[in-house]
Amino acid sequence: MDFQLTEDQAMVRDMARDFAQKELVPRARKHDEQGSIDPEVFGILKELGFWGFTIPEEHGGAGLGNLELALLLEELNAGCASTGVTVSVHNSLLGSPIRRFGTQAQMEQWLPQLATGDRIGCYCLTEPNAGSDAGGLITSAVRDGDDWILNGTKIFVTNGAFAGLAIVYARTSTELKGPKGISAFLVPMETPGVSVGKAEKKTGIRGSSTTEVLLENVRLPASALLGEENRGFPIAMDTLDGGRIGIAAQAIGIGRACLEASIKYAKDREQFGSPIGNFQAIQWKLADMSTRLDAARLLVHRAALTRDAGERVTPQAAQAKLFASTVANFCADECLQIHGGAGYTDDFEVERLFRDARITEIYEGATDIQRIVIARNLLA
Ligand SMILES: Cc1cc2nc3c(=O)[nH]c(=O)nc-3n(C[C@H](O)[C@H](O)[C@H](O)COP(=O)(O)OP(=O)(O)OC[C@H]3O[C@@H](n4cnc5c(N)ncnc54)[C@H](O)[C@@H]3O)c2cc1C
Repeated sequence: MDFQLTEDQAMVRDMARDFAQKELVPRARKHDEQGSIDPEVFGILKELGFWGFTIPEEHGGAGLGNLELALLLEELNAGCASTGVTVSVHNSLLGSPIRRFGTQAQMEQWLPQLATGDRIGCYCLTEPNAGSDAGGLITSAVRDGDDWILNGTKIFVTNGAFAGLAIVYARTSTELKGPKGISAFLVPMETPGVSVGKAEKKTGIRGSSTTEVLLENVRLPASALLGEENRGFPIAMDTLDGGRIGIAAQAIGIGRACLEASIKYAKDREQFGSPIGNFQAIQWKLADMSTRLDAARLLVHRAALTRDAGERVTPQAAQAKLFASTVANFCADECLQIHGGAGYTDDFEVERLFRDARITEIYEGATDIQRIVIARNLLA
């Protein structure tokens, strides 16, 4: 077992860290306050090739794997979690399923535009009455000649406000029940009948876009179907295996930012005539944060490397997300405590980190759902 990154992987991590520290850290508060990411950040992400990170080189991307993506996402999220999730969803939830399940024609049509970021991707699974129970979705896709007509409401769509291409999960069979009658469609957002609805006001990751996507008599050609008819749910779940590794990496990035802020404050803040970092209670908090973050990173890298080896990673990805997201919230809580009253104000970034960490236990499958996935695999 090799715990060292290769030279190329270390280079990817260092480039991402350099960008995040220079361009994202100074903007993170602004992104949070204005509720959006600065447009110039989208441009820099394009210049650096981060939109096409995992898209194959023949389609204009960098052709990198899940481990490199995890390294990138840890760094981006240590700088600004709103930017981090935007890149994560684009790469993991849209680029990946087209690459893994698309026809040659679909790959040629969409991957080059996704690679440059000229089209940003979004993933439309959740509905008002189908969250954890995504197999209960009711958005419909009905055949009309060779075309499909889609109707329904998707909620909580990350990147919804500016996405150019959506993967939409819709029910294509009324006879097959639950997850069995669902198909996946590639939907250009400019298609007549597609509109962006309510934008959510959120607790954290406020710079990231989260909106409804409304589908009203949306006519799609047969070529919009991704994979086989009625076999869309396995695509959604395979996609989430990769996405969960990305969210786990996000959690580590946020947790690491908490640890770094805690170390700095523990050295700077003096009470009882001494930096508070000299008190053992504070030292134990730092030790526990650092140890749990390292353990979480090992789970994330194991899941990423296993997916890169072409194996199924459902339980490994769920373990990585379950553990890393709870560690991020542990680190955020300890960081706030170390900052005392100052941590409860917006004078320090910890209050934003505390709010940002919370989402990692909810999206792409809430914590209890990860436990269900892990336990099902144990009992199978
Ligand atoms: C900011 C944000 C961004 C998002 N981005 C996207 C996106 O891009 N695309 C997308 O499709 N969705 C997205 N989501 C939706 C997200 O994946 C869901 O919110 C999540 O899966 C939980 O679903 P729910 O909110 O309906 O909660 P519910 O399913 O209603 O769950 C509520 C609670 O009950 C628990 N629970 C549910 N079922 C069980 C069970 N069987 N056993 C034990 N506990 C259970 C859950 O763990 C949770 O704690 C996003 C959500 C947010 C908040």
